[in-house]
Amino acid sequence: MSVNLQTPIDYLKGVGPNRADLLRKELGIHTYQDLINLFPNRYIDRTRYYKTNQLQQSNADVQVIGRITSFKEVAQKRGKRLVATFQDDTGTMELVWFRGHKWIRESLKLNKPYVAFGKTNWFNGKFSMPHPEMESLEEHEKNIRSAMQPVYPSTEKLSNRGISNRVIVKIIQQFFIESKGRFYETLSEPIRKELKLISKSEALFNVHFPKSQELLAKAQFRLKFEELFYIQLQLIIKNRLHKSKIKGLPFESVGHYFNTFFKEHLPFNLTNAQKRVLKEIRSDLGSQAQMNRLLQGDVGSGKTIVAFMSMLMALDNGFQACLMAPTEILSVQHYNGLYELCKPLNINISLLTGSTKTSERKIIHENLENGDLQIIVGTHALLEDKVKFHNLGLAIIDEQHRFGVAQRSKLWHKGPQSPPQSSQREEAKTVRQKYMTARPSTYSLLKDLQVEKKKNTTEAERILWEHLKTKKLGFKFRRQHIIDEFIVDFVCLEKNLIIEVDGGYHNTIEQKEADNLRTKILNEIGFKVIRFTNEQVIGDIDNVLSYIEKALKSLPSGEVGGASAPIPPHILVMTATPIPRTLAMSVYGDLDISVIDELPAGRKPIKTVHRFDKNRLNVFRFVKDEIAKGRQVYIVYPLIQESESMDYKDLMDGYESISRDFPMPDYQISIVHGKMKPEDKDYEMQRFIKGENQIMVATTVIEVGVNVPNASVMIIESAERFGLSQLHQLRGRVGRGAEQSYCILMTGHKLSDDSKTRLQTMVNTSDGFEIAEVDLKLRGPGDIMGTQQSGVLNLKIADIVKDKHILQAARHFAKKTINEDPSLSKDENRVILHTYKQLSKFKNIWNYIS
Ligand code: ADP
Ligand code: MG
Repeated sequence: MSVNLQTPIDYLKGVGPNRADLLRKELGIHTYQDLINLFPNRYIDRTRYYKTNQLQQSNADVQVIGRITSFKEVAQKRGKRLVATFQDDTGTMELVWFRGHKWIRESLKLNKPYVAFGKTNWFNGKFSMPHPEMESLEEHEKNIRSAMQPVYPSTEKLSNRGISNRVIVKIIQQFFIESKGRFYETLSEPIRKELKLISKSEALFNVHFPKSQELLAKAQFRLKFEELFYIQLQLIIKNRLHKSKIKGLPFESVGHYFNTFFKEHLPFNLTNAQKRVLKEIRSDLGSQAQMNRLLQGDVGSGKTIVAFMSMLMALDNGFQACLMAPTEILSVQHYNGLYELCKPLNINISLLTGSTKTSERKIIHENLENGDLQIIVGTHALLEDKVKFHNLGLAIIDEQHRFGVAQRSKLWHKGPQSPPQSSQREEAKTVRQKYMTARPSTYSLLKDLQVEKKKNTTEAERILWEHLKTKKLGFKFRRQHIIDEFIVDFVCLEKNLIIEVDGGYHNTIEQKEADNLRTKILNEIGFKVIRFTNEQVIGDIDNVLSYIEKALKSLPSGEVGGASAPIPPHILVMTATPIPRTLAMSVYGDLDISVIDELPAGRKPIKTVHRFDKNRLNVFRFVKDEIAKGRQVYIVYPLIQESESMDYKDLMDGYESISRDFPMPDYQISIVHGKMKPEDKDYEMQRFIKGENQIMVATTVIEVGVNVPNASVMIIESAERFGLSQLHQLRGRVGRGAEQSYCILMTGHKLSDDSKTRLQTMVNTSDGFEIAEVDLKLRGPGDIMGTQQSGVLNLKIADIVKDKHILQAARHFAKKTINEDPSLSKDENRVILHTYKQLSKFKNIWNYIS
């Protein structure tokens, strides 16, 4: 194909600088590639024409053939509107413009047949069509029409400036003419065969101009699959790279602590899910790579014991462990629980939070550094620079949504020493960006050489590989391996040594400069790079080999950066907010994920009901009965940050009225909210935990992890104002003891459809994953993951909610491809490698990743 997809759209016939500028600004279309990937939102039937007497109120996108019989200007509040009477043989309608009157009057002729296209309104007893797309019937008849014409995404600015849908359609048609509709295939033959996918060219044509409903469906499937496939491929490669490059502390044995605890002190039988997850963690910790695992498990599924037993593995291998929780209350509770478990094992454990006294803090710092302290539990206080470990082997983070990614990486740096990994990556990025802007020609040459270079294996490369692959130098080398965004000729991952053999084309100054840049970037990431010329290899292979051998000797073993570089602790992130599998796959595809999907036996399901405010008396009567049986009750008020003061008022009003309904001295009520001092909060919590108070009135501060087994009723006020995952978390505060527990969702009478769905979901199920799926459907991925990962929203055609099955297939095939051919060097995978490189070259994939 002669058309280069990276060509700026300005070059396309019919586009020109002004339109190009608008397309760039409004739709982010810079190149041909972007244009071809502007997919229609929907399709409309342009073979059907309406008569004016067939119009309905608010018809979307109809076309009517008629003549303009007159124009008039009508004054309105601001400015004027231009109204044309449009007539056909059945009657009339009005065409209306609020802007661009002059141009319209000049370009539209009276009494000439036109096709008007647009939405219709019923206004002032007539049908009208605001800002219709107008085309003379003569012109109209020349164009091909189909029952499925594309409707592209647009913006108000675009349509105001005359770039209507029709114009975009024309531009894209033009592009198909210029490119002859031929596009490089981007998926391998075996995958296409197995999934019966249509070709890339066919898919692109049919997604823009479908020949039939059936072909449209095939085109969409193929393009969605492709989009998701490359994201998954990227994540999987990243994960593999992580494993091969980032060494972990080897926890070789399960020893005294673990075995003693398991045999003598385990307070209950582990569930099968807990056992399975422990095995997964055990195998990570025993491998040579750093663990980077996400542990998902619903509230009450028993993540803490898994965390504790993982810590014992660290201790058994002579390492320290830490557990970080997002709030003071939660870390205290973790500490108390773990303290009890540590006691019979004589393990030294401490708590470090913002309110730890200075004198105590000093001792903790000391004992952490000299290694006397084996386990530390705490809040963000653990992240302070002053906190230094003797040898932190395992860092566990509870409830990860409360911590940012930055904080996670801070813990990582608290290994025996700080690894250079992530900061170096930053630097490499800076070098790269500097070149991209300052020396674009060098940079693009670098990129071209990269692609060029991999096309054919030279004789010199072949000779060198014959020697390296035998391991006679004592180390394993890989060939054509992907490092960062490069494919390097040979690499020894154990020593971070890269060997490049330069072909004859490496002799101009620009090419040398491009090579140097590449070396520089690879150095920044922590690799040593040695270059040989073809002649050197062919002429004196023995000399080359002995040079490599010397280099290997001089280099320390270890992960990136050499032996002086420290090994980061293993990381386990625990979350009680179930993330739907599809979302987890797209966002955390580079982490390993364990799931505890089974609750401990004997739990009674919580009974959940929805009650309107007017039934409050009944609810309170029920609460009194429960209290009479010795139970405790939570009453929770919403807290939404924007209107904090109003929420505070709601809470206080509620507290007052509850105090009236549950008077002292029969009833003792605690109140806890975010504006209280930590010590006051703690005091109130403690009273509730000890059972001195029967009712706890609170905002969502109690949401996270609080454990009071005797509390059996959770009342959520204004439940319609809470999100699903929050409701689910709150409900998880009860049902922790042997008694039947209840969750009562109180709301006003007027409810939106979404609120109704949320409440109904809560009443129907207690399965966190099911709830998470509904939540994803209601809110979309962006809201759930926060802006950080909004990359998943950048999908051009696929939708991770609706296209779940395609995503699963994409992940399956990406995994399979990489498992069977890790360096993508098989002939059949050449097209995948090429596309992958292209995508990363032009940053299309990187959008999706952190
Ligand atoms: P979460 O996953 O919400 O952090 P926890 O670890 O706090 O859950 O466990 C909830 C409760 O269940 C705790 O009281 C814990 O002791 C108990 N528990 C955990 N695992 C089991 C089990 N296998 N059998 C019985 N009880 C268990
Ligand atoms: Mg927990």
